[in-house]
Amino acid sequence: MNYKMDYNNIFFKINTSLNKIKDHGKVASYIPELNNIDPNKFGVHLTTLNNEHYSIGDSNEKFSIQSIAKVLALTLAYKMKGEKLWKRIDVEPSGTSFNSLVQLEYNHGIPRNPLINAGAIVICDILISNLENPKKDFLEFIRELSGNKTLNFSSKTAESEKITGFTNMALVNLMKSFNNIKNDIDVVMDFYFNLCSIEMTCKELSRTFLFLTNDGIDPITNNKILSESKSKRINAIMLLCGFYDEAGEFAFKVGLPGKSGVGGGIVAIHPNKYSIAVWSPRLNKKGNSQKGMNFLEKFTTKTQSSIF
Ligand code: GLU
Repeated sequence: MNYKMDYNNIFFKINTSLNKIKDHGKVASYIPELNNIDPNKFGVHLTTLNNEHYSIGDSNEKFSIQSIAKVLALTLAYKMKGEKLWKRIDVEPSGTSFNSLVQLEYNHGIPRNPLINAGAIVICDILISNLENPKKDFLEFIRELSGNKTLNFSSKTAESEKITGFTNMALVNLMKSFNNIKNDIDVVMDFYFNLCSIEMTCKELSRTFLFLTNDGIDPITNNKILSESKSKRINAIMLLCGFYDEAGEFAFKVGLPGKSGVGGGIVAIHPNKYSIAVWSPRLNKKGNSQKGMNFLEKFTTKTQSSIF
């Protein structure tokens, strides 16, 4: 079967059917910089394990990947610290919104998982303790993964988050009070806000996540990013925790491990087959890209490529 023809044709048909839907939700406005994005942007890029590429729409336009970067921070921290990581962060679905404080108090400052804000903030703290030049070294890591040496933080977005980041500051303070943050909280939050501000295109994003489709080995460079076991575990965490309190819905409808961000991006993995990135800035009430979720639901249905 010629997959190239099929994927492109399928993308086109799904997009045509979704364009008939009027309401795709609202762009995130709590980060002022994200509110300036054209809400009608839409792009998809799929990269196969054999480095074949399929795309539609604004797939080559950079956008703020936001929480999707949490998977990359987790990857580097897990690679460096191994299973010790789980003393400071759980691996349970939270069932709460991305920036929720409620579970932290009765969990004594231990976040439910590394893909919600609290967990990612602890991961940032761990990276700061273990990297010589945290922001520079992290950037180096994702530049290598993406094959793009120009990837960068957006200082505008990071600054925009900083001035409105009251809930995130509450999270870091609460965890510091339980001694689960070791570094200065301003240094930790500077890293966190920059992490969220990274910009990529759908093409770069799907390429960056390819190692998770291939047991931790980047299929293009053959570099071992993670062990097979760690790669499997990150996929498990994405499946259970990658969509805030909508992780169940995503597994139910799409059936792939993945991660969303409030910039409207979603990346999803089919182990041994492909990595796909979708971008549509309008979000549903749970903070996930509405059109992105609908697109992926139709895509895995039509191609029969849910993992279940
Ligand atoms: N920078 C965002 C925040 O901390 C990330 C949220 C997200 O994409 O889930 O509020």
